[in-house]
Amino acid sequence: MDLQKLEAVLQSQNQPKFRTEQLKKAIYQDGISSFTEISNIPKDLREILVKEMGLLSFEVQKVLVTKDGQSMKALLKLSDGNLIEAVLIAPKPDVWSVCISCQVGCAIGCKFCATGKMGLKRNLTAEEITDQVLFWIQYLKNINQKISTVVFMGMGEPLLNWEQVSRSLRDLIDPTLFGFGARSISVSTSGIPEGIEKLAMEFPQVNLALSLHFGSDEKRSQAMPINRKNNLETLREALKKYFLKTNRKVFLEYVMLSGVNDSREDADKLIRFVKSIGKLQLLHVNLIRYNSTGSEFKPSSKEHTVEFRDYLAQNRIDVTIRKSLGEEIQGACGQLAGK
Ligand code: SAH
Ligand code: SF4
Repeated sequence: MDLQKLEAVLQSQNQPKFRTEQLKKAIYQDGISSFTEISNIPKDLREILVKEMGLLSFEVQKVLVTKDGQSMKALLKLSDGNLIEAVLIAPKPDVWSVCISCQVGCAIGCKFCATGKMGLKRNLTAEEITDQVLFWIQYLKNINQKISTVVFMGMGEPLLNWEQVSRSLRDLIDPTLFGFGARSISVSTSGIPEGIEKLAMEFPQVNLALSLHFGSDEKRSQAMPINRKNNLETLREALKKYFLKTNRKVFLEYVMLSGVNDSREDADKLIRFVKSIGKLQLLHVNLIRYNSTGSEFKPSSKEHTVEFRDYLAQNRIDVTIRKSLGEEIQGACGQLAGK
């Protein structure tokens, strides 16, 4: 939604000031899919708006829904032809979480991730980022449901597109626009210390998830090239600073790769690293099953993942196995590749 353009159109039509507020409410809160649905504005203005501008900055190419109706994925075509994906999942009945993209592709190149294989094509604008949320608001309106949480876990590395991501966060939190609570938004990063610091300074209430995946530098560097620049020690320091500023819980993501990072020794290394950060009560490990991306990796078995979890828990690590949703439509974590 191009707010500046909307305001310019309203001004050119000599509309009263309150019109902007009326329209913002209709668009962001009521989730109208067309200006024609806004019944409390003059009909000729509705027609002018329809002619002058769209509500979304992309075209919706297709929406895939899983059989159980709990996950959906939208393929979105940007104005320059690039494709991105946005996912909607219901982790619980009547709770909807939107997973949004912040870049076309990603420069980090993690070996287990489909987005990483594409390389980076370009950053998304704040508008393209928030429009993904707006699209799902419109979609859910048809079934009388609302979005509960927004996570930056789609395509791209949010902390390497900070300018646009921070603008999008501002709009998502703005009570006159989307009006989400900062605590219902999460940003996931592969580990960019400067970005973590900016997030802590500018949005201390937004949740941080760190894609750790390995407790040793050797293995982490192999699968996540970013670790050669920002290694575990750097991340530890970044988290310590983050805690000083926010005193908020951080989620450590750990994708379970069979025979790669799921042995007892790997668990011990993870435990050692997590404990070395201090503030054990503020760290939560999420074990994620690997979703297939056509790479050389295989997911650890369910039983093995449970064992791994139990071992961490015995060692006083706060840990859960995160349910993976959307694999059937290639809409689960790491599977988004704009197709
Ligand atoms: N670039 C950011 C956010 C997008 S990726 C980041 O890496 O954190 C969102 C999450 O999906 C990350 O935790 C990422 O490590 C994880 N992920 C990537 N590929 C995956 C795969 N094939 N299976 C499961 N999780 C994966
Ligand atoms: Fe980029 Fe995240 Fe995928 Fe790594 S996991 S390539 S950082 S999107």
